[in-house]
Amino acid sequence: MTPPKIFDLIIIGGGINGTGIALEAALRGLAVILVEKEDIGHATSTWNTRLIHGGLRYLEYLEFGLVRESLRERERLLHNAPHLVQPLTFRVPLFEHSKRGPLLIKAGMVLYDFLSYDKTMPNHQMNYLSSTILKENPFLQSEGLHGMATYQDCQLTWPERLCMELALTAKSRGATIMTHTELTGLTDATSDTITVRTMDRITGEVQSISGRYLVNAGGPWVDHVLGLVDQNVDRKMGVTKGSHLVIRRFQNGPEDAFYMEARADGRPFFLIPWRDYYLVGTTDLFFDGDLDDITVSEAEIEYLLNELTFFFPTHGFTKEDILYTYSGVRPLPYEPEAKKASQVTRRHIIYEHTQAHGHQRMLSIIGGKLTTYRNLAEETIDVVQRRLDKPVTESPSRDFPLLGAENVKNWPIYFEQKSRLSANRFRLSLDVARHLVHFYGSQADKVTALTEDHHELAQQIHPHYPDIVAQVIYGIQNEQARSLSDIMLRRTSLGTHAGLGLECLDRVVELAAPLLDWDADEQRQQKRDYQNWVEKHHLMANLKPA
Ligand SMILES: Cc1cc2nc3c(=O)[nH]c(=O)nc-3n(C[C@H](O)[C@H](O)[C@H](O)COP(=O)(O)OP(=O)(O)OC[C@H]3O[C@@H](n4cnc5c(N)ncnc54)[C@H](O)[C@@H]3O)c2cc1C
Repeated sequence: MTPPKIFDLIIIGGGINGTGIALEAALRGLAVILVEKEDIGHATSTWNTRLIHGGLRYLEYLEFGLVRESLRERERLLHNAPHLVQPLTFRVPLFEHSKRGPLLIKAGMVLYDFLSYDKTMPNHQMNYLSSTILKENPFLQSEGLHGMATYQDCQLTWPERLCMELALTAKSRGATIMTHTELTGLTDATSDTITVRTMDRITGEVQSISGRYLVNAGGPWVDHVLGLVDQNVDRKMGVTKGSHLVIRRFQNGPEDAFYMEARADGRPFFLIPWRDYYLVGTTDLFFDGDLDDITVSEAEIEYLLNELTFFFPTHGFTKEDILYTYSGVRPLPYEPEAKKASQVTRRHIIYEHTQAHGHQRMLSIIGGKLTTYRNLAEETIDVVQRRLDKPVTESPSRDFPLLGAENVKNWPIYFEQKSRLSANRFRLSLDVARHLVHFYGSQADKVTALTEDHHELAQQIHPHYPDIVAQVIYGIQNEQARSLSDIMLRRTSLGTHAGLGLECLDRVVELAAPLLDWDADEQRQQKRDYQNWVEKHHLMANLKPA
């Protein structure tokens, strides 16, 4: 009998940090396994503002190192994942009532440019002529307006897809990725290995996994994971909740993102174009509740709608404008002294457990941002290699295109040419072809190839949305989709549209059932699970009780 495999590294958590670390480990030749209790990128790494940004506001807290790190990683992502990360223009209107005056904003902009001296995007601009600002932006509040700064950051349309691509790229380099598999406890810890118990939440199968080192990348659940493997550690996480509203684009509304100072509390307030919608956010509130049950509160909705109505007075927003809301929690370091949630550092900490804390073969990731995941992964694997008594090798991920960026030289040209070619060759509408190239990058070829001999697979799943039947097949066969939610939310974009995909559940279940062996009972259960999830997490204005 062959002895059970001992991995070099076990990673708990398949968010941006866990998947980023898995890729870094696989690229540096470590035998790595990632264990995720639900699906890749299903948690905090989806429910955020979807920006790859330097973090202009961190300058106020003198976090120059973090801003520089973020701006450097932003530039890397523009090269390594250009299909998912794209430049976005931000406008910062200056008002007389703002706490931060024009001089401070100008200084911040100059510093932001300085810290991104090696960027490929243009520097900021200032405009102090309110008449021209209002002419170009007639939807904007005119009261007290006396200037506007314009600068560039980036948007990550689908952070969940970035997590998927990191996991898939890691897998293509030998990593083992286990989804719907929860760490449930510690079996054994010796001076050489750590063995954990896991349970497959779909099949119920229990397994033991042994490794030489373990990384706890449980995001907001870091303390919970620690409770399962090491009860001697103090609280590490101090999470804060942030909520967003998704609204339809309003008539003659902005094409660029707007970044304002909220009147109520001086916090950053965003209106961001996102596909056919605007994201309105966000809040930042200490959170001590159930991490599996995070929803927006009435007070948060009121706060966001009030700010929106003030800054964009031409529309007159009400709750009826909200298509849905979503909330996430920022996995931040526990800082009992912090008075305000926004004061807690956004820097990450790589916490190495010591023998005194129960284990010397383990570290926990505390904090971090989407933007800086790669650098965090690089630092983590440096530690892991050291702790495994291996030479610390140079990070290969700095200049490493993800799967969808392979063979892409100049994204805007590639995007247009590829979309047109696919539309012609596979008889797709140009909108559908563009969606596929944006969603999968150069991997879109593998999805469209499925339609070559089966043109019925090129059909849109729902006439209003660009996702096609082949994506369901591809998601199950090539991207480890195992549940209806996996397909709705992360192998297609159906579940992130206005109706959260509820209008196409039957169709998707019909397509998935034969491939996932779902009998009639299981099909009903999958639909119920998805509907329950929607009800629990997405407050839809129109479905909400009065
Ligand atoms: C409102 C908001 C806005 C934000 N906006 C931005 C932004 O615009 N730009 C930016 O750069 N950052 C942003 N962030 C921060 C960023 O989203 C997070 O820092 C990042 O996603 C955290 O990733 P993670 O991998 O640590 O956690 P997660 O994505 O939460 O992943 C942790 C994973 O661990 C899994 N897990 C937990 N327990 C177990 C277990 N027992 N067994 C197996 N798996 C387990 C969970 O299922 C989960 O998938 C924002 C965050 C919030 C909340």
